[in-house]
Amino acid sequence: MNWSELYWHRVTPFHVLLWPLSLLFIMVLAFKRLLFRLGILRSVRLPVPIIFVDSITVGDAGKTSLVIWLINALKAFGLRPGIISRGYSENYGSPIPVTISSKLKVVGNRALLIAYQSKDICPIWIGHDRVKVAQALLAAHPECNVLICEDGLQDVRLQRDLEIVVVDNSKQNFGNGLILPAGPLRDSLSRLNKVTAVVMNQKSSRSLVNTGSHVKTFYMRPGNVYFTNLLNPDYRSVFRDKSIHVITDSQDFLDQLKYLKINVRSHSAINHYQFTKEDLQFPDAEIILMKAEDAVKCLSFANKKFWVLHEEIVVDIGLRETILKKLREQFMDPKLLDILVCPLCKGPLTYKKNEKELICKADRLAFPIRDGIPVMLEEEARILPAEEEI
Ligand code: ZN
Repeated sequence: MNWSELYWHRVTPFHVLLWPLSLLFIMVLAFKRLLFRLGILRSVRLPVPIIFVDSITVGDAGKTSLVIWLINALKAFGLRPGIISRGYSENYGSPIPVTISSKLKVVGNRALLIAYQSKDICPIWIGHDRVKVAQALLAAHPECNVLICEDGLQDVRLQRDLEIVVVDNSKQNFGNGLILPAGPLRDSLSRLNKVTAVVMNQKSSRSLVNTGSHVKTFYMRPGNVYFTNLLNPDYRSVFRDKSIHVITDSQDFLDQLKYLKINVRSHSAINHYQFTKEDLQFPDAEIILMKAEDAVKCLSFANKKFWVLHEEIVVDIGLRETILKKLREQFMDPKLLDILVCPLCKGPLTYKKNEKELICKADRLAFPIRDGIPVMLEEEARILPAEEEI
């Protein structure tokens, strides 16, 4: 256990001192929700469906892996997702896009990690104000027809269509069971009864959390593990008889390497919020191995010696079905079909209800609506013959 885990798992006199603040925190949250419910404060409805993916505790809990999974699942159904995030906490400027070439100092570690792991296949925008970020992303990418917000469960300003909460099932994730700042919970556990789906990140333990019978619970489990080159992620390898230096503070990671029978020399990553080239000078190293969240900090100066542990996840098929069912209901709304634009020319589309197609007159393409989901992919679109009237 590191110091933060120790802190979240105990109840000391210090925690008792902080407890009134926790009470205040949850009261402010409840009061804010009440103001929105009474219509005194107004929440914003975006023109496209938005899925919130968050953990209920501090820390990632597997959220990033699930977001990457979700991007790919939505893409596979012809949807065009965009990601919004707050980025890091001191990020008060106007919304900005994130790519793997973005500067760590400007966009923060998490956003860069998502850009890296999603291989830049969908736009990611960050900023302090989620409503503005979402609007900026949609203005820059009118082809996006669904958004994923990778935090902000408590931010009631933005109306959402689905809420997915990830719970780390392996390390008594709820710690001492107290709400911030005395404990790791960012909301009361009863909040889990009100979300669309709870995803248990089941690394090892089998202990189950009672989330109420009306909330759908799904599982994500570790899948294949392999190493990819940082600069060329399609290049995989198993290391045999190499001099490997590992930079990490994660005992889990070192245990995992031991389990894979890989001998390494390990170095602490502590105090390296931002690595420099000089931090990572190991003349005898043939391989410099890191977890992805540390490795992305080295993108600007890495060479081909830098490798990353890649961990796939397996998610219950039911989660995808639940998400698609909910999105279908949204897309059945003619208002939503009206605002979709052509992914090629960004121009307007005409909805042909009987043919179940969305027509771009300029490109003479008909995008199919399959199973209630508009498939906005050029390669799936039907080319309209010259004689067909539109
Ligand atoms: Zn077009």
